[in-house]
Amino acid sequence: MTRPFSLCVSTLVFNFEIDHKGYSPTNNAHLRANIRSLSISPGSHILMSWLSSNLVKVGQKERAIITVAGIAPDVDGIGLLLDPIIRAFGGTSNYWGQWHHTLHSFTFCMLIAAASYVLAKANKFTVACVAFIVFHLHLLFDLVGSRGPDGYQWPIPYLEPFSDLYTLTWQHQWALNAWQNVVIGFVLLISVGLVAKRYHRSPFEVISKRMDEAFVRMVQRTF
Ligand SMILES: [Zn+2]
Repeated sequence: MTRPFSLCVSTLVFNFEIDHKGYSPTNNAHLRANIRSLSISPGSHILMSWLSSNLVKVGQKERAIITVAGIAPDVDGIGLLLDPIIRAFGGTSNYWGQWHHTLHSFTFCMLIAAASYVLAKANKFTVACVAFIVFHLHLLFDLVGSRGPDGYQWPIPYLEPFSDLYTLTWQHQWALNAWQNVVIGFVLLISVGLVAKRYHRSPFEVISKRMDEAFVRMVQRTF
């Protein structure tokens, strides 16, 4: 069933629809809750994968590759950005509902691991293996703690596009904004602080050397 509703993002207002297997928020509060939740989860994935990259002896570029591998499955959530833009220009689309979680699969994981192997300058096999592991940690995080505000579990189609035999859900899955995710996020942040203090680097190294240095300086001064 498709239901029209409004989305407010800052000062912008878009009209659009969501149509996905039981996922049909009916008001702005629901959608704002979704967006808040989504803004937490990718952050945890990034911290988790960057911290994992520090468990092996690899260079800065290889840590960046592993970090990207850990967030790569969420590329399929691009519809959350595309749909409002398309509809703002008078079109119709539901890429969020159609695509979200389609790349949370073993097939895409193997593609990411292979790309990690090719892109790494050194320790190629190690980088590919850790990329494979952080990709699966991402799936595990989603499986245990990404239930939507409406109760939808976003099943993980592990063997897609070849089979729908192992579409994964967990009956005890908690909500994206549940306390468990807050605790996990807190533990990840503390761990990032400890690594920054000891090894003088942070997840910011993936995007900017200056931001990385500023963050490390701040940690060194504060603790
Ligand atoms: Zn995900």
